[in-house]
Amino acid sequence: MAIEHTNKKYLKTIVKNVETVAPGYSLLSFDCETPLLGRPGQFVMIRGAWGVNPVLPRAFSIVKAGNVGQVLVRDVGPGTALLCNMHVGDELNVLGPLGNGFIEPKSSRAVLVAGGVGVAPLVFLMEQLVPKRVPITFLYGARTANDLPLKVRIEASADLIVTTEDGSVGTKGLVTQPLVDVLKDPNCVVYSCGPNAMLEAVGRVSMDAGVECQVALESPMACGMGTCKGCAVVKPDGSFTYVCTDGPVFVAASIYGGEK
Ligand SMILES: Cc1cc2nc3c(=O)[nH]c(=O)nc-3n(C[C@H](O)[C@H](O)[C@H](O)COP(=O)(O)OP(=O)(O)OC[C@H]3O[C@@H](n4cnc5c(N)ncnc54)[C@H](O)[C@@H]3O)c2cc1C
Repeated sequence: MAIEHTNKKYLKTIVKNVETVAPGYSLLSFDCETPLLGRPGQFVMIRGAWGVNPVLPRAFSIVKAGNVGQVLVRDVGPGTALLCNMHVGDELNVLGPLGNGFIEPKSSRAVLVAGGVGVAPLVFLMEQLVPKRVPITFLYGARTANDLPLKVRIEASADLIVTTEDGSVGTKGLVTQPLVDVLKDPNCVVYSCGPNAMLEAVGRVSMDAGVECQVALESPMACGMGTCKGCAVVKPDGSFTYVCTDGPVFVAASIYGGEK
């Protein structure tokens, strides 16, 4: 897939809003003097004006681009905690858009499969496809009802099927179970983002159904632009591919095997 690196300088932006959208999940909006470009699946590296601790920027999928950028942050450690606790007017340094992004379906249905915070790039994709009248089925899986940030935003725009592992909302079980039924009509493209094990399962179910599947991978990275080589993923033939510059979006078969 083509790589688009349109901007390699950190943009200074100002926090416009920090909204807690579920326990431990914040939707961070920031005003960009130079509009943030980018398409669904692309990501940004974010650094607060917090000095050197933590020194490395963190990667986040773009939820919304333009004059106001938006990312969804799950508080899992020091960098994400700092972002979740930012205030309106704080300075935020943003590098992007980085990576390649999803390739939109030509004519058929789009099946979006999200796991937890992996919903971020898929909400961006959904919001780009809705005005183009592409029919969308959105499958959203999480551990519990508390891990479904942006659920309300999705319900407003697409057919939504929810699964939770504890059954606290939607159908109890994994998101791959309803996916098998949805793919009985194979005239569609699957787009997925979430934990690695889920992505592999989604990729395999899609391949078994003969459906094209694009997965957005996450892999810890320090630079976001191919310098640190921290985000290497081993391909089925033993060679390396890099999530930041070759991805984060890959055709599932190229990562999980089965590529013709
Ligand atoms: C392309 C890309 C897009 C991403 N999009 C989002 C997003 O939209 N929203 C979001 O909340 N997070 C996203 N992430 C993950 C996010 O970058 C990490 O959660 C963040 O760097 C953690 O920083 P920290 O200092 O809070 O925690 P750390 O102390 O750095 O890590 C806390 C825990 O998370 C694990 N971890 C850290 N980074 C990753 C990673 N990239 N993948 C898997 N596990 C990791 C660590 O091993 C550790 O267990 C994305 C990552 C990538 C590579």
